[in-house]
Amino acid sequence: MPMKKCRSTLNKTYEEIYGKNKAKQMKKQRSQCWKKSYEERWGTNIAANAKQKLSEYGKKRIGNKNPFYGKKHSQQTKNQISKLRAGKYAGSLNPNWHGGRFLDKKHGYNYVRIGNKYQYEHRAQIEKALGRPLEKNEPVHHIDGNKLNNNIANLYLCNNRREHRKIHMQLERLALKLVRLGMIRFNKNIGEYEAII
Ligand SMILES: [Zn+2]
Repeated sequence: MPMKKCRSTLNKTYEEIYGKNKAKQMKKQRSQCWKKSYEERWGTNIAANAKQKLSEYGKKRIGNKNPFYGKKHSQQTKNQISKLRAGKYAGSLNPNWHGGRFLDKKHGYNYVRIGNKYQYEHRAQIEKALGRPLEKNEPVHHIDGNKLNNNIANLYLCNNRREHRKIHMQLERLALKLVRLGMIRFNKNIGEYEAII
């Protein structure tokens, strides 16, 4: 049965199939080849052709055109994949590594990596200062309203969500007071408030 033969070959290492010396040589050749671009390997024309074909091939395999569409890996395969990948893409080894921090664009907050999980930077800062994890009902307020200014001086730990809401409402009341005092005005042309400096 050819399938079975193929599978058993795949499970063997290069060393087992070709012997130590030959395997070493082959691995070296292979790794050098992978480092080269298509152009370096075959020259501009063949490379362009190959890229074109690859992209066409890729397009033919999108969604339900992909032979794997709707299928799932068996648990055994999943275990094998995860075993092969274990640790190889962790943290800084991952091509998507951005120094252990990233911006949550939807909510405008920064995430930082603490140990092996990601956390909001403003909450992590307070936790570090307090030396204890924060409760869910302990919001952290950005004093200057800039969610990316996570300097500890710009952060205030609220006792609960209610207090956080109160702070924001108080800020609005204060802003309206400044309108009455003429320090902020409403620009009807753009439909926005402006500070009078
Ligand atoms: Zn706030």
